[in-house]
Amino acid sequence: MSVTSDYWPLVLDSLKEKVSSSNFKAWFSRVEFVSTTNRGRKITVAVPSDFNKKYIEKKLSKEFRESINKFYPQVIHIEYEVSKEEQEEMAPVQQILTLEESELEKMQQKEEKKDSSYLPGKSISNLNPKYTFDNFVITRSNELVANVANGVVKQLGTLYNPLFIHSSVGLGKTHLLQAVGGAVAEQNPSLNIKYLPAETFVNQFILSLQKKEAAKFREYYNSVDVLLIDDIQFIAGKESTQQIFFHLFNELHQQNKQIIITSDKPPKEILGMEERLVSRFEWGMVVDILKPDFEDRVAIIKDKVERMEILLNENQIEKIAKVIDTNVREIEGVLNKIKASMQMIPGRDFTNDDLIKILEGYQALNGATGYVSNNLGAPINPDKILQAVCKLFTLQKSDILGSSRQKDIALARQLTCWFYKNELDLSYPVIGKLLGGRDHTTIMHGCKKVDKLRETDQKMKEKIQLAKKFLQDS
Ligand code: ADP
Ligand code: MG
Repeated sequence: MSVTSDYWPLVLDSLKEKVSSSNFKAWFSRVEFVSTTNRGRKITVAVPSDFNKKYIEKKLSKEFRESINKFYPQVIHIEYEVSKEEQEEMAPVQQILTLEESELEKMQQKEEKKDSSYLPGKSISNLNPKYTFDNFVITRSNELVANVANGVVKQLGTLYNPLFIHSSVGLGKTHLLQAVGGAVAEQNPSLNIKYLPAETFVNQFILSLQKKEAAKFREYYNSVDVLLIDDIQFIAGKESTQQIFFHLFNELHQQNKQIIITSDKPPKEILGMEERLVSRFEWGMVVDILKPDFEDRVAIIKDKVERMEILLNENQIEKIAKVIDTNVREIEGVLNKIKASMQMIPGRDFTNDDLIKILEGYQALNGATGYVSNNLGAPINPDKILQAVCKLFTLQKSDILGSSRQKDIALARQLTCWFYKNELDLSYPVIGKLLGGRDHTTIMHGCKKVDKLRETDQKMKEKIQLAKKFLQDS
């Protein structure tokens, strides 16, 4: 067989075996093959009505997917095309079945109870095509892990086994794990690849015990060729899961089956993880993903805005990178907000004010601590800052530059340091010089103090807001 559509009748035959004949007649008999795209990872099928599509998705998606994957093993994504002319009229047999839907549902549930539906079909890898090597931005903070992951794809099971990746949240562990899975699947579609969060593993294991199917569970995982376990820290403290996982690990490792594990901590630091597992996690390669620094964040944002088709200038990109200093997930969150807000104001330019509003709103809700400066291209200089602070405290410049230790003046001086640092990014020694030849440690101390007050002191927050306004108006 050469044409991909040739396999379609086989898919239908397989479905006939999986679902009742009335179900097949009602929902699959008129489903037609359209195309496979994205190197076989997406299949498009034509369905006679929207209702038909919804029904399959809601009630028969597992069977449908399994049958498709039997003959199109690379397929991850199924797309439905509703044939236009038939969209309105609903096939009579479907109308009848709609009435019987609740009945069908009951049957379905019974069937589900009978088989081991908690274990997805062998050909279902759970990979999300959204995560690829192609859209993973390589920076200094993840260069090593990206190289190692690439190496694993090329020398599966032998180069680094297991590969253990750890980092704090939102830095790309799941993305890389799935990217490896996707690349391996592309390279060798016949391999049995399984991606799953450790939490799913635990739940499946518990269900297998409840159903007295422990042997079946073991068999299922022993036949895996590539095991991708996400967030292993979840099995910490869970003794029987750890025990079963230990045996699975040994079984797969002995046969050179590739294992990749991710975690929020390095193996030794996962509390409640058995020592023998910890030592196995360290057998192969342990790598971490670091938090991206400012330049890394700029690179990531540039890549993402291009893919998302968001038009931002260099200043705005740097502003985002400066404020969202936590992780890539938060960067994506902000970019999504920006995109949505741009779509809400079609025809109008997305202004710096719009951006600042989004960043401030985002910061209020999330953990990012970077300072949101209003300074977007507007020329701000040390003198303007000094003026704004003087206005805020009703002081003279000479007060701030002088040596008085009066409380108000000292605070005004510290705030000036802080603005110099955060608005102008000046170094501590330079700030010291600008403020009448002060020592850089004094300046550093001043900046730290304001940083702390900003978090704890409402009055300080208001002062900063007001000073920013003065600055903007200056
Ligand atoms: P983790 O599993 O470490 O918590 P994820 O893999 O879920 O993090 O990453 C969070 C989000 O950030 C995902 O949408 C992912 O695609 C994206 N992401 C993380 N790192 C990168 C990167 N280097 N390049 C592109 N996107 C990334
Ligand atoms: Mg994750």
